[in-house]
Amino acid sequence: MTTERRQAPRRKVKSVEKTGSWGKFQYVHHLACGHTETRKRLAPSDEIACVQCLREEQKREEMRTLTRISPIFYGDDNSFIDEELKIERTRASLASKFGIPLDAIDVASEYVLSKLIIRGATIYLSALDVDKLTKNN
Ligand SMILES: [Zn+2]
Repeated sequence: MTTERRQAPRRKVKSVEKTGSWGKFQYVHHLACGHTETRKRLAPSDEIACVQCLREEQKREEMRTLTRISPIFYGDDNSFIDEELKIERTRASLASKFGIPLDAIDVASEYVLSKLIIRGATIYLSALDVDKLTKNN
């Protein structure tokens, strides 16, 4: 087992597909999150690590770091803390509206004359999120 697989979140196996030809079979595990894991052997349990979920998570982390470039100016008082809380509240509200994890949302903001202005929000949807959001349409 690779390190990556050890860190990856475990997902339920929904179905398994056997592909390839004799002597070169591969088992494509279809997971509850919408990803697939291809292995040479059938998974011993009905819950296996999803490397793609981990990679998506890492990509989100990367994107977040890249977009977090807004300059911050401290005012004369503690309003800075309040403003940061405002961002967190906005993120939480968006997360509950879409029914997605908090860390899937990045709110872009900037300080103008020590007032925080929200410029917009970026929402990263995983395959599972997309599935959930489009299911009823
Ligand atoms: Zn996954």
